[in-house]
Amino acid sequence: MSKFWSPFVSALVPYVPGEQPKLARLVKLNTNENPYGPSPKAIAAMQAELNDTLRLYPDPNGERLKQAVAAYYEIETAQVFVGNGSDEVLAHAFNGLFQHGRPLLFPDISYSFYPVYCGLYGIDYRTVPLDENFRIRSDDYRQSNGGIVFPNPNAPTGCALGLDDIEAILQANPDSVVLVDEAYVDFGAQTAVTLIDRYPNLLVTQTLSKSRSLAGLRVGLAIGHADLIEALERIKNSFNSYPLDRIALAGAAASFDDRGYFEETCAKVIASREALAHGLRDAGFEVLPSAANFVFARHPGRDAGALAASLRERGVIVRHFRQARIDQYLRITVGTPEQNAELLQALTAILHA
Ligand SMILES: *Cc1c(COP(=O)(O)O)cnc(C)c1O
Repeated sequence: MSKFWSPFVSALVPYVPGEQPKLARLVKLNTNENPYGPSPKAIAAMQAELNDTLRLYPDPNGERLKQAVAAYYEIETAQVFVGNGSDEVLAHAFNGLFQHGRPLLFPDISYSFYPVYCGLYGIDYRTVPLDENFRIRSDDYRQSNGGIVFPNPNAPTGCALGLDDIEAILQANPDSVVLVDEAYVDFGAQTAVTLIDRYPNLLVTQTLSKSRSLAGLRVGLAIGHADLIEALERIKNSFNSYPLDRIALAGAAASFDDRGYFEETCAKVIASREALAHGLRDAGFEVLPSAANFVFARHPGRDAGALAASLRERGVIVRHFRQARIDQYLRITVGTPEQNAELLQALTAILHA
């Protein structure tokens, strides 16, 4: 607290990101990063940007990147917004599309940044409980609201919602923006991008941090009707004209151009996820069906917080949320087969100690 703070700063409750440990030796399975590196073509494109032209500002519109995304999804560049990580894109969407007086709806178990943005922008919200299997029920979103947001697949559960359910939510809410946060969609869910021409109230956000292995670059995007994109552009151009630097724009575009590498590494993560879920079940865990690059699991006989602490002592870090309904679960990022084996070995040792 300081007398220099604007009054609203004292009331802010900021988001707490997963730990980025200083120790390199740890098996880091806590923040859903990709265990494989980015596309070699993306790295080459970024290296090619390291020259004298860095004295010049980047393209404020990120046109080259928008073209790469539009080509990938066979849509128009006017239907694409790019920003500094999808967290920034989400912030602009909350600010520009969810301030309507009525409460924003999102699941009770969901991405913990959503209530933080509500606090930042003074948006009233109501959480909608997931069902007993941690599933989103589309019928629960037939109530008065000023907007709807949920991740698909959901985080931290990993459970995917089908496009039929997403369409049901869109149809029941023609006067609200429905934001589908597709941070993990490439690991096994169906993208709602195919619906944007039919639903002017649909906004889809994606990130290059997970499936494209560029968490360190900070690039995210939104896809939707040009009118929704225009709202985000207006906010962005009132805040920071150049959210993406030359290196990020080049690397992100090259990543979208390199479809082969992307599909290959996603397939490896998916195969690894299935093996990890199998290994965890063999060790006595209950594992929710995951369409993401993490699994959500609980051991019926062991406290999740204690397990996470014991794993850490053995050099393996996973994520544990002290939150109602899920405080007995661990969220474990899918690593390489070697990292997954280290995790399972550590767990077996802990369970037999
Ligand atoms: C990781 C994540 C994001 C943020 O991605 P960045 O592009 O790295 O900011 C957004 N939503 C969900 C659900 C995520 O898990």
